[in-house]
Amino acid sequence: MFDKILIANRGEIACRVIRTARRLGIKTVAVHSEADAKAMHVQMADEAVCIGAAPVGESYLRGEIILDVAKRTGAQAIHPGYGFLSENAGFAAACAEAGVVFIGPPIEAIRVMGSKAESKRLMANADVPLVPGYHGTDQDFATLSAEAERIGFPVLVKASAGGGGKGMRVVRAANELADAVAGAQREAKAAFGDDSLLLEKYLGRPRHVEIQVFCDTHGNGVYLFERDCSVQRRHQKVIEEAPAPNLPDDLRRRMGEAAVAAAKAVNYVGAGTVEFLYEDGGFYFIEMNTRLQVEHPVTEKITGLDLVEWQLRVASGAELPLRQDQLTRRGHAFEARLYAEDPQRDFLPAIGKLVRLRPPAENDHVRVDTGVREGDSVTMYYDPMIAKLIVWDEDRDSALRRLRVALAEYEVVGVTTNVAFLGAIAGHPAFKAVEIDTGFIERHRADLL
Ligand code: ADP
Repeated sequence: MFDKILIANRGEIACRVIRTARRLGIKTVAVHSEADAKAMHVQMADEAVCIGAAPVGESYLRGEIILDVAKRTGAQAIHPGYGFLSENAGFAAACAEAGVVFIGPPIEAIRVMGSKAESKRLMANADVPLVPGYHGTDQDFATLSAEAERIGFPVLVKASAGGGGKGMRVVRAANELADAVAGAQREAKAAFGDDSLLLEKYLGRPRHVEIQVFCDTHGNGVYLFERDCSVQRRHQKVIEEAPAPNLPDDLRRRMGEAAVAAAKAVNYVGAGTVEFLYEDGGFYFIEMNTRLQVEHPVTEKITGLDLVEWQLRVASGAELPLRQDQLTRRGHAFEARLYAEDPQRDFLPAIGKLVRLRPPAENDHVRVDTGVREGDSVTMYYDPMIAKLIVWDEDRDSALRRLRVALAEYEVVGVTTNVAFLGAIAGHPAFKAVEIDTGFIERHRADLL
């Protein structure tokens, strides 16, 4: 196992990684921007090094400087968290060259899965079911247009390099395609420096069901069950849960096995998530995320495992601690993402000082993952997530009750948050009745806002 690791991130995920490292007796090095000099992750780490100014391009995205810090401080490995450099194949390659372990999958797996089109081509060969669509290299408008006709409207135009819902357009009829393609190309070029697109059949009421997978360097691969992340706003997850409710057990198993096959097809190593859409009894691969996900705690709550510990073990060359037939799950968990934003003003990000910040008390049922304390400020430089509230109980209804109570107890003064919006979702009869799909928030907008 490593003696010392560097965490190339900030906020709740940096704190989360440090907590596990500490428990395992591993020393930690934090990196931070000038704006984060007094941040929680900096104070939690054994050492901290300032790497630049507040904008992420001048600090958290500067791979070379971060690698330099790792070498100078004697850190043997780098945990990238999520976002920032976590899915940057170039950074993973630079780590390898410098002799520092990148805590993540092999470079080639990051590269292939970073392209939605290329990954779909590969998945088709591995017999993983796909959403019907077009993911070819020919990007001529005539081709795209003919393919859209073949797929049948409505179609979804997606940026191949996409993430965070960027570069996505729903096209209801043929005469809307040209504008949608031009718009998506522009957005994709600006956000990812790559304007290639793919087309998918736009499913009407899918659920987002994703599988947590783990592989080691010895050829072992397992799935740690699924998460349902259907409650989304603008294709971004708001509340997640595990297991996915009302799913036939044989389907869970088939999805799990398909996800492991997907991972093995790219010689995957470490933690990954294979995302599927589920509709009318069928499931369809949409993409694989080659990192630890924001919503990993719900999996930890139902399995009793520490996924960061598994990441560290696998990265240090150890075998997976458990085989598939040794993995069990128990109870039900929810995660709600608490954001500094104003639901009444179209979810505009909010900034300001957290004058009062009192999360509910943590215990076996309630966990709060955060990177801020009372008195800290939410700035415009970074993601406005304040905390993740995770609850667990023996069954879904009991866990949902816990979620409602914990949200009602959450006190934040000084910054506008979405806590009341989260409470409205948790208290909605359709949510309790598992009438969920990716259109949930839009459909119940009037009740939730
Ligand atoms: P991103 O990488 O930008 O997050 P994804 O491909 O993961 O994009 O999709 C994000 C969300 O968009 C999904 O969870 C789902 O809600 C919606 N979505 C994606 N593909 C489709 C589709 N073919 N039909 C309907 N909704 C889709």
